[in-house]
Amino acid sequence: MNKARVEELVRELLLEIGEDPEREGLQGTPRRVAESYSFLTKGYSQNLDQLVNGAIFTQESDNMVILRDIELYSLCEHHMLPFLGRCNIGYIPKNGRILGVSKIARIIDMYARRLQVQERLTLQVANAIMHTIEPEGVGVIIEARHLCMMMRGVEKQNSMMTTSSVLGSFHNSTATRNEFLSLINRSHGGM
Ligand code: ZN
Repeated sequence: MNKARVEELVRELLLEIGEDPEREGLQGTPRRVAESYSFLTKGYSQNLDQLVNGAIFTQESDNMVILRDIELYSLCEHHMLPFLGRCNIGYIPKNGRILGVSKIARIIDMYARRLQVQERLTLQVANAIMHTIEPEGVGVIIEARHLCMMMRGVEKQNSMMTTSSVLGSFHNSTATRNEFLSLINRSHGGM
């Protein structure tokens, strides 16, 4: 990302919305917005294999692994406004291959720090886990609130969008999928 160019564009945007980019409170804004976008879109410069970097562990178990309520912040590609929520993941390891919790969080962030729609983000996270450790199956559920819906448009402040993606045995076996859903919902605190 060319930060100088983004700063210039933000300055122009400020003018177009009727602001004075020279007034005291706004003088550093183009630079801050450029810094902010650089961070919020850094997923474009990351790739899965580099990110995981071989950090796959072996733990002899074929029980379902559940990670709940992983915080998630992304930007919707239609309005470039935030959507935020929680990601829940379950997988059943194959040949004992498991992924560190921090790596899973980084995988989520890599895809979330791009312009997204929630449905694609959910599928990308599921595919990434499938690709990385080739488990029996994986399930991903994302629950998020979209500021583009809350602040503008329909102004529905309490709407929560839920998307899910199930692959492998989570897709093929109703019993596995139900076990996943019941583990996710157990003592579910909501947001
Ligand atoms: Zn939107």
